[in-house]
Amino acid sequence: MKLLKIKTLAIIAIITALTIPVPVWAETPPRHDFPSVDGYQVLLGDFHMHTINSDGKLTTRERVEESYAIGYDVIAVTDHGKTRTFRLAKYIGEPLGLVVIPGIETGINRMEHTVAIGFNSNYQPRDSHNWAENPGEDRAYYQDQMKQIGESGGILIYAHPHKGMRDPMLWGIKQGYVVGIEVKNGVVGTGWNTTKFEGADCYPNAFDWALEHNLAIFACTDAHGRRQTESFTGTLLLVKERTESGVMEAIRARRTAAWFNEMVWGREDLLSNLLRSCVVATRNADGSVIFENRCPIVFKGTIGDKKIELGAYQKAKLDAGNVDSITIRWDNVWTSPKTNLTTVIKLSTP
Ligand SMILES: [Zn+2]
Ligand SMILES: [Zn+2]
Repeated sequence: MKLLKIKTLAIIAIITALTIPVPVWAETPPRHDFPSVDGYQVLLGDFHMHTINSDGKLTTRERVEESYAIGYDVIAVTDHGKTRTFRLAKYIGEPLGLVVIPGIETGINRMEHTVAIGFNSNYQPRDSHNWAENPGEDRAYYQDQMKQIGESGGILIYAHPHKGMRDPMLWGIKQGYVVGIEVKNGVVGTGWNTTKFEGADCYPNAFDWALEHNLAIFACTDAHGRRQTESFTGTLLLVKERTESGVMEAIRARRTAAWFNEMVWGREDLLSNLLRSCVVATRNADGSVIFENRCPIVFKGTIGDKKIELGAYQKAKLDAGNVDSITIRWDNVWTSPKTNLTTVIKLSTP
């Protein structure tokens, strides 16, 4: 009996040893630091992802470690209908320096999906993805659920907005519960009413809605399996402090921009400030200009009839002649689906 017990324990120990999760990403995270922008710190976030607690393929530990390895600063794990992933994600993420925010994916029966983040434990999810559009049904009424999320300190983001801008979202926006929208969702591909824009499958109409209804702009991976790493998908946040409340304040103040498919989408004032901090230029005595990109984003621009590409943290040289400033149209930086950002860079002499 005793021997059997020891044997059983030994087997359990071996099984445990075999199943102890090894880090999925062994490398150190890529360089993703930004200079401060208009006095704010720039963080990179992903506010929509899944684990095996819903229909994702990664464990919570794998998802959090993957997020760290890709270079996010802040994440919300948003399993369908479940909030329980949060505590473990925070426990694993905080020692890595990640800001981890409570999250859930939910929404209206057969219609809009929403990601709710930042709520406290007072919010008890009901009928996730199954909210009724009208009061008095058996299922939870969407207005009651949005109100509860709002009153628990949370906010809603309209996820992969494939159902257009209908009453439930407009109501949520008017009440201040829906404060953000995804212009890029990493898993929907060519489905879910996306549009091809500069080669990317995304939601340019949602960019218009964000500007029209004053919503924070998001790019989220909605990762179920391992994330694709060839081009970064994430949300830039201009925060006063690197904390959960700092992130929530930045979102409520709409200080966000979307970075995906080597493009940046956002409001003109925010992106002007971003470019002013990221790209500096110096004029040499021979008339050449050295551009320095201090950011992890590749910036592509047009100066007159010349094209310029500034790799992440790279320098580039251009013969500009004897000028004091240079006007650049940024071909991969968009302030609306029809407008590129243009900035004037004053040249300094070394
Ligand atoms: Zn969804
Ligand atoms: Zn999702």
